[in-house]
Amino acid sequence: MKINIIFTFLVLAALGLTISGCFKWAARAPDKLPETTALDNSYDYKGKVIIVGAGASGLAAAKVLEQNNIDYKILEATDRYGGRLKKNTTLADFPIDIGAEWIHSAPIALNKMKGKAGVQIEEELIPYHLEDTYTWDGTTYKKTAQSENDFMYNFLPESKFKNSTWYDFVNENIAATVKHKIQFNSPVSEIDYSGNKLLLKTKNGEIHSADKVLVTVSIGVLKSNHIKFIPDLSEKRKEAINSITFYPGFKLAMKFTEKFYPDAINCKVKSGEKGFYDIAFKKEAQSNILGLLVAGNSTEEYYKLNSADLIVKSAIAELDRIYNGKASETYTGEYILENWGQHQFTMGTWTQAFLHKKSELKTLNQSLDKKVYFAGEINDTYQQMGVPGAVLSGYHSIDKLLTNTK
Ligand SMILES: Cc1cc2nc3c(=O)[nH]c(=O)nc-3n(C[C@H](O)[C@H](O)[C@H](O)COP(=O)(O)OP(=O)(O)OC[C@H]3O[C@@H](n4cnc5c(N)ncnc54)[C@H](O)[C@@H]3O)c2cc1C
Repeated sequence: MKINIIFTFLVLAALGLTISGCFKWAARAPDKLPETTALDNSYDYKGKVIIVGAGASGLAAAKVLEQNNIDYKILEATDRYGGRLKKNTTLADFPIDIGAEWIHSAPIALNKMKGKAGVQIEEELIPYHLEDTYTWDGTTYKKTAQSENDFMYNFLPESKFKNSTWYDFVNENIAATVKHKIQFNSPVSEIDYSGNKLLLKTKNGEIHSADKVLVTVSIGVLKSNHIKFIPDLSEKRKEAINSITFYPGFKLAMKFTEKFYPDAINCKVKSGEKGFYDIAFKKEAQSNILGLLVAGNSTEEYYKLNSADLIVKSAIAELDRIYNGKASETYTGEYILENWGQHQFTMGTWTQAFLHKKSELKTLNQSLDKKVYFAGEINDTYQQMGVPGAVLSGYHSIDKLLTNTK
């Protein structure tokens, strides 16, 4: 995650904050996490609930329904669960997250997501404190001062799972007890909430009825109008949906016979981000896997190539320019590429809710007539973002649904 270091120093100085005090101030801080979640409550709801989408937020909401023996099912558009969580076990000698990868929140967020008390976590994490990083603007390749790496780590101390992935975490702690309730290959195309019973149509012509619905699809899917709401969404809500930045992007992992690259290379881009990074960082792995994460305007130049092989070729050529042909020399020809920006049921990468107007976020969080509720990364009210934000929003929104709150 890139932040203009000098600007940040100035802002912090103006606010009179010390670096050690910064993380408390920053978004994703532990003190923004809820004391308890819906996992700690019991509910006596007699109606039928349908959850649209089996990503992290939909699965989390389902866990609460399962725990309380409430009648529910999950309609998932694709043939798998996890949404923007996905892992690959074939490219390297360690599992690779090809969707969400970093734990941006404080580790205690993992306990909150599991419904476990206390601050001691069970997972083994790698502190993402980089030591060898560079910047690249297309012509100049420059080492980053260690003080900048230290500052970034102190300001936003991120981590990664040591032998595991985000997908595994959600699979084991959240999906395990609810996956039998998922109906796959069922893209919802219409939600009619005009009557007492809600009617949901899927693209394959099925009609499902429910008393309440929780929609957990990405903001990209809502923007693309894949789902028709009857009555239509208000203009205010449409404006709020369209105001949210949801960058296109992809993640590429390439395998090499040698590690010729540093921990990370931050590439200069006009908007969004682009960076090469060592996916095996501190993993105790033998495989040399270099990632390329691109989100924002620079995605366009790759999308123009219109082929995964050509995207890889272009990435290797760029690395060759920096490392005098070393990338071509050591590339094994193996890669994985996940194009989230053009995936019909994702249509983008991630959102950063705290960058948007509170009024717009509030509009997105409101139910439609206390019948249709919304959860997912953008509905995170605890400023955690990413997977923790998505899971906690699942707990938050299902609580609202079960307690008939607007
Ligand atoms: C490349 C990339 C890197 C990321 N890196 C990080 C990271 O390092 N750390 C982090 O915390 N977060 C990261 N994120 C963000 C994180 O993945 C998301 O915040 C989180 O997974 C969102 O979960 P969700 O349940 O809100 O949405 P989703 O995961 O998008 O789940 C929505 C589900 O709804 C389904 N769906 C869509 N349309 C329909 C329909 N019409 N009918 C039925 N089902 C439908 C989808 O198939 C999907 O399963 C990253 C995301 C990407 C793409």
